[in-house]
Amino acid sequence: MSNDLFLVEDDDDHAEIAISSLHSAKVFYNVVRKKSLEEAVSAYDNEVFEIVLLDLSLPDSSGIETVERFYEAHPDATIVVLTSLNDQEVAIRALKSGALDYIPKDELTSLLITRSIRYAKERKRALTELNNKIDELAKKEEELSQSNKELEQFAYTASHDLQAPLRHISVYIDVLKKELPPERLNDELKNAMGFISSSADKMKILINDLLEFSKVGKTSLTIEHCNVHDLTTEVLEILDEEIKECSAEITVGELSEISCDKGRLSQVFQNLISNSIKYRNPETNPKIDINCRSIGADWQFRIDDNGIGISEKYHERIFHIFKRLHTSTAYPGTGIGLSICKKIIELHGGRIWVENNNAQGSSFFFTIRGDLA
Ligand code: ADP
Repeated sequence: MSNDLFLVEDDDDHAEIAISSLHSAKVFYNVVRKKSLEEAVSAYDNEVFEIVLLDLSLPDSSGIETVERFYEAHPDATIVVLTSLNDQEVAIRALKSGALDYIPKDELTSLLITRSIRYAKERKRALTELNNKIDELAKKEEELSQSNKELEQFAYTASHDLQAPLRHISVYIDVLKKELPPERLNDELKNAMGFISSSADKMKILINDLLEFSKVGKTSLTIEHCNVHDLTTEVLEILDEEIKECSAEITVGELSEISCDKGRLSQVFQNLISNSIKYRNPETNPKIDINCRSIGADWQFRIDDNGIGISEKYHERIFHIFKRLHTSTAYPGTGIGLSICKKIIELHGGRIWVENNNAQGSSFFFTIRGDLA
């Protein structure tokens, strides 16, 4: 970039003061001067000029509008505004509108003008660097989201295509079981048959969960009016067997009527409630409280349990796919449930997280945006 200065100033005396102030500081620019905004906007070339000194009061524009219009036409320009009045407020607004510094003309000295130009150039450099970094980050995020989409597509195809061979395996296991009843097998073969059979069952659960995970987000949400109290009643009916089996005590507070995808929200409640039952404290019967409150325009739901709890250091990690804190012998599972919940809630514009329950156990929270129509 050359050592050229673009001076936009209609007043000859003021222009002279600005140039001579630079000269007396031994700073020599090739100066191109324009006297109106229109002329300035059409003549400016960012490749040529290093700095723009822009008077705010021109014959065809005055005040903050002058910066706004110049900046809009040339967002890459390094602009220092010249203010006639010692008006801090206009100067600050000028900074917000794209200028990098300002000089009150009645205070113009060689020291002030050289310092201001130096500061403006430095700020411009830092800003450009920052913008480049932001662009780089945005590009990386875009690449990441693209590779996430590809991974999800892969997970979908893989889990979808694995269903058929798995079905064949299950069918042939049944054939083998029929043809080879346990009394005709030695211990080793009996164990092998049991192992194949339970592995196939586990694989079926894993593939179904993975398929479900990759399906969320593939189809758009069906937003409709939903009475969350009725929805949880249905969920508790679905989980009736699990609830009765461990005599879980479930209390449901007053739950609101909201707009959401009912099927998806039901999945979230099912996952969270069945986790509260699964990860119960072996010493006591599960106690689960379900509540809701409004926060501004949004809704916050809360599910408290008195289960085994989750160490704080894992509070983030459990929402990532396949992240489990136990072996499948201790607690069966695939580590996919909470990642499905997270996806569903984020599709509803909300957030999901866990905290330690004050009494004992965990408190899961999630929000749903109140303006989904
Ligand atoms: P899964 O239950 O199949 O392992 P999830 O994604 O539902 O998968 O849960 C991830 C992990 O978070 C679980 O393995 C468990 O360690 C922990 N977790 C989830 N819910 C609870 C809960 N209510 N209490 C204690 N731990 C929980």
